[in-house]
Amino acid sequence: MHGSAPSVAVVGAGVIGLSTARELHRRGWRVQVYDEKPASGASHAAAGMLAPAAETVWDQHALYPMLSESASLYPEFAATLEQESGRRVGYLETGTVVVGAEAGDRAELDELAALQQQLGHPAERLTPSAARHLEPALAPQLAGAVHLPQDHQVNPRRLTAALLQVLEDARILVRENVTGLQTVGGRTTGVRLAGGEVRPADQVVLCTGTASVPGSPPSQVRPVYGDILRLRLPAGRPRLIERIIRGLVRGRSVYIVPREDEELVVGATSREDGDPQPSTEGVLRLLTDARRLLPGIVDTQLVEVTARARPGSPDDLPVIQRHDPGLVSANGFFRHGVLLTPWGARETANLVENTSDQEGN
Ligand SMILES: Cc1cc2nc3c(=O)[nH]c(=O)nc-3n(C[C@H](O)[C@H](O)[C@H](O)COP(=O)(O)OP(=O)(O)OC[C@H]3O[C@@H](n4cnc5c(N)ncnc54)[C@H](O)[C@@H]3O)c2cc1C
Repeated sequence: MHGSAPSVAVVGAGVIGLSTARELHRRGWRVQVYDEKPASGASHAAAGMLAPAAETVWDQHALYPMLSESASLYPEFAATLEQESGRRVGYLETGTVVVGAEAGDRAELDELAALQQQLGHPAERLTPSAARHLEPALAPQLAGAVHLPQDHQVNPRRLTAALLQVLEDARILVRENVTGLQTVGGRTTGVRLAGGEVRPADQVVLCTGTASVPGSPPSQVRPVYGDILRLRLPAGRPRLIERIIRGLVRGRSVYIVPREDEELVVGATSREDGDPQPSTEGVLRLLTDARRLLPGIVDTQLVEVTARARPGSPDDLPVIQRHDPGLVSANGFFRHGVLLTPWGARETANLVENTSDQEGN
């Protein structure tokens, strides 16, 4: 498209803002993305599980189809992004084994597996010894297991690096925060930067996770903090696991995600105490539960402890909405934002382009 193409300002460069910006750029919009610290929010912490089956929990019927559709978009999304950016994104079709430590955990696992099967996910119940046949490093004393062969992973840090590369190559990333919105007659017409400069835009899209831009419509997104650990196998040690291991240990959930390199990601707590610093109790709990499932985890190096806030919405569903003829927001991706990235980018870009839907809500 030429110089008269419509312009859009995307505020926030997490997975949602970055992928929406890339999508609109591909559709011919003149895009500017604003973020002083790109990819430093929840997207920096995320484990990157693409888990439409394992994330199926009770009574979230509106969420299930979004998760499944986005998972089905991932192979092409990852491949085209790798081609465009010249960077790998760490999309791996590893599958997932979910294990229950105690008898009560197995009962919960069985109930969830029944729901997952009902929804059409391949979910195969395994005996503990069959699970150990797949993943020999699993603990000998487990109560039960389920194999979810279609729950995969991406490396969110590689994903955001690839998206940033595309935007930087196109010179559309501005490493500055937005401090306010410019509005004329009830229509958002641009964004304001710290020095007071206004950058006009035909459309503004807010993708700021748990943060909000001063003067923007009130949001119901709340911060749900998660502590997460990065471990590394010492050089020369054989890999511990090939698949993602998720587990229930006396009703508490924990996961271990093996990366292509020697990294293992162990997560994650879920707390609404408002504390952005990692919780000692949380770290202890994660390591204790991870060791219960995978005893060899103690022979690793602890290289990183991170806490970030998931942008939680009241019903756990993402909120993509138009507020006025020039303003859209895409937030509340909660614990599924990485999985929902291709779907969220498409849906947000569609809403940006649909300027006839301007009733404001
Ligand atoms: C511990 C943990 C583990 C997770 N694991 C998974 C997982 O395995 N799978 C999965 O699918 N999801 C996972 N998630 C959820 C996922 O990380 C989020 O849903 C997703 O990252 C949300 O992306 P976002 O772009 O909306 O927000 P963010 O990544 O938080 O990005 C928001 C951006 O907005 C910027 N910003 C804020 N204010 C301004 C401003 N005024 N001007 C400009 N920029 C601004 C910030 O700097 C930030 O870069 C996990 C989350 C956590 C915390």
